[in-house]
Amino acid sequence: MKRQHFEDWLLNDKKLNEAEQRELDSHLRTCSSCAALAETGFALRAARMISPAPGFTSRFKIRLAAQKIAERRRKFWGAFLLILTGAILFAWLAAPYVYAFLLSPAEWITAAIGYFLFTVTSLQIFAEMISVFLKVIPDILPPYAWMVIASALAGFSLLWTISIWRFSRAPQGASL
Ligand SMILES: [Zn+2]
Repeated sequence: MKRQHFEDWLLNDKKLNEAEQRELDSHLRTCSSCAALAETGFALRAARMISPAPGFTSRFKIRLAAQKIAERRRKFWGAFLLILTGAILFAWLAAPYVYAFLLSPAEWITAAIGYFLFTVTSLQIFAEMISVFLKVIPDILPPYAWMVIASALAGFSLLWTISIWRFSRAPQGASL
């Protein structure tokens, strides 16, 4: 009867007055079961003090989520800035061409068509050269023929490069 009474106090963590506390203390000295229970209670209370304050976990989660959002926002603005810078740079580089095109669209279109036709023709000639070359290969060529072919190819590619360079520069020169 008395023992049950002390166990209830200990289990419910009852606030004891001085007389009750004295009563409990004297009982704990004689009853190992209640002493163990009291010990457990102290341990639990200590653990509760060590464990995070209520709401800490949710606060931590909120902070983590906020950090993630901030990071995502940072990444977004970083990408946005990169794209914007790229666009501005591209616009700045392309502006003279666009300006020249707007000033004389016909000239530019003619130049573009000319360049396109030139490229196609060049590729056709090049393909023909390769096909001729492949037809010739089976025959055993004298070394000087190889040299002639090699220099012809080199000359052709040089000519082609110069033509492209002139073509790509001509419209810019016309706009000035
Ligand atoms: Zn007891």
